[in-house]
Amino acid sequence: MTNHLLAALAVAAVPALAIAQQQTVKPEATEVWTPVPKIVTPGATDDMPPSDAIHLFDGSNLDEWVSTATNQPAQWTVHDGVVTVNKQAGDIETKRHFNNYQLHLEWQVPVGITGSGQARGNSGVFLATIGNDGYELQVVDSYDNTTYVNGQAGSMYKQSPPLVNAMRKPGEWQVYDVVWTAPTFNADGSLATPARVTAFQNGVLIQNNFALKGTTQYIGAPWYKAHGRSAIRLQAHGDPSPPISYRNIWVRELP
Ligand code: MG
Repeated sequence: MTNHLLAALAVAAVPALAIAQQQTVKPEATEVWTPVPKIVTPGATDDMPPSDAIHLFDGSNLDEWVSTATNQPAQWTVHDGVVTVNKQAGDIETKRHFNNYQLHLEWQVPVGITGSGQARGNSGVFLATIGNDGYELQVVDSYDNTTYVNGQAGSMYKQSPPLVNAMRKPGEWQVYDVVWTAPTFNADGSLATPARVTAFQNGVLIQNNFALKGTTQYIGAPWYKAHGRSAIRLQAHGDPSPPISYRNIWVRELP
């Protein structure tokens, strides 16, 4: 036989083998029937909490939150179904502590915002609070406002710029949807697996399974310190610009 003919036979043999396998292995062999995923009833719209979510802020009160500094009731201003940052009162954090979760929250930079760079609508979502530290998903006005890119809206502060700038202009609501995988630690306190974050802003992917290098630091390199379940914290940044607002914050705990 010629080499050409051998090659042609070899090519023809592959589908024949595949067909033979399909005839001996049944489709059922690769079907999985249990465990059955539990039923979760979605919200009436995708921005509303599903049936297994905890509504951390539904527009009516801050009962799920405390002041970080005092552990007393949170003193931010609830009005018109939103909560506006009270910069004098400092950060607020959830009473509940979390490990892995899906988080939804919405935030708005007010029309007429002033300042520039980091001093323009700065706040932040600490995805886990570790003492005075944590892992900050940055909130700041990044609509036509230049700052260091690993500190603009949607960055994991000083570690990972957002993949794109998906900001809406002041006066419009920004939506963050976040998947947080907490870090794990060995018995001696050393890091076993890093924290990971996936995030969308206004439906646009801004962080894709980013592995953090540690807590987000204003000065210097990040590092890990062992911790367990943690509060989610919202930042009252000291910049003099008018305060931003939040609304519709819900979380779903994940395995
Ligand atoms: Mg901030």
